[in-house]
Amino acid sequence: RQDLRGKAALVTGGSRGIGAAIAHRLAARGADVAITYAASTAKAESVVAKIEAAGRRGLAIRADSADPRAIKAAVDTAAETFGRLDILVNNAGIFPYGPPDEVTLEEIDRTIGIHVKGVYVASQAALSHMSEGGRIISIGSCFAQRVPHGGVTLYSMSKSALIGFTKGLARDVGSRGTTVNVVDPGSTDTDMNPADGPGADGQRALNAVGHYGAPDDIAAMVAHLASPDGRYITGAALAVDGGSNA
Ligand code: NDP
Repeated sequence: RQDLRGKAALVTGGSRGIGAAIAHRLAARGADVAITYAASTAKAESVVAKIEAAGRRGLAIRADSADPRAIKAAVDTAAETFGRLDILVNNAGIFPYGPPDEVTLEEIDRTIGIHVKGVYVASQAALSHMSEGGRIISIGSCFAQRVPHGGVTLYSMSKSALIGFTKGLARDVGSRGTTVNVVDPGSTDTDMNPADGPGADGQRALNAVGHYGAPDDIAAMVAHLASPDGRYITGAALAVDGGSNA
């Protein structure tokens, strides 16, 4: 009941970090997997090569999540290529950081565009292709529930929106067997937040386990939610944060 053979998935922002780990794990469980990316064509192609090496179909689509038309087209292309779409993982993200009085309108639009509007549009498009047993999983942040320091007002606002989105949509689509959840990572070792970065020791001091998570720690939760075993989990915000919010 962890088996994803015969299923098709799309992971936004799958060229690096958490999204790449999710793409690999879903393929290892048997799913065909499409990924989107913004700029890293070579990295996206190497993720696809690894998916294909696992014996599954892979597809990389360049699509800026801040562009609603591009994201809808990416979802439709994935569904048409694989002949179905069962799993959408809204993972693409950026990390705006700094004092709130220095944040520009463009940064606000771009952050909300990728983290909120892009998630809504991708999910809307994916639902039009999903039949019984669909899965919509978004990657939020533990800052959606608790903010331990300054400089992240815009980021935290955008990620907390995913909780309302998840609860609302879970109610809307539950009767058709589709589940909707948000996974809230804590400090996870990626290009966005390297475990050897300048603020890393401070982050380790804030969680219960004293170390960073790996992208695979997040992917393991996503794979569970995506699988038949996850069918009774919906409308939930699940922390995978080493106890940061404990
Ligand atoms: P990375 O910066 O390592 O990777 C980001 C990925 O998203 C890349 O594949 C990138 O593509 C893609 N991406 C960025 N902007 C866009 C866009 N506009 N359109 C399409 N794709 C885009 O980040 P992480 O793996 O660390 O983060 C993944 C998610 O997890 C994000 O939503 C982030 O907010 C969240 N998160 C991360 C935490 C951490 O500690 N790392 C903690 C909590 C949440 P490309 O390679 O082409 O640039």
